[in-house]
Amino acid sequence: MQMVKHDSATCAACGGALWFGTKSEGNGWKVYYECDDCGFERRAGRVTVDEVESRDEVRNRAEAMGEQF
Ligand SMILES: [Zn+2]
Repeated sequence: MQMVKHDSATCAACGGALWFGTKSEGNGWKVYYECDDCGFERRAGRVTVDEVESRDEVRNRAEAMGEQF
């Protein structure tokens, strides 16, 4: 899974920058967030194929999930 650094989301445990990535699963993608500094890892949610029209949109939705942290 390729992880991308989030622009603004920070780790709830240590305040470090969070990275996010998506993993293909069934009819969609699982979205993961993790922190390189302390090992914090969390499954943020899911994006299904009917919700998006392109791979870019999957990334945008995954990125938006970071705002909840
Ligand atoms: Zn952390």
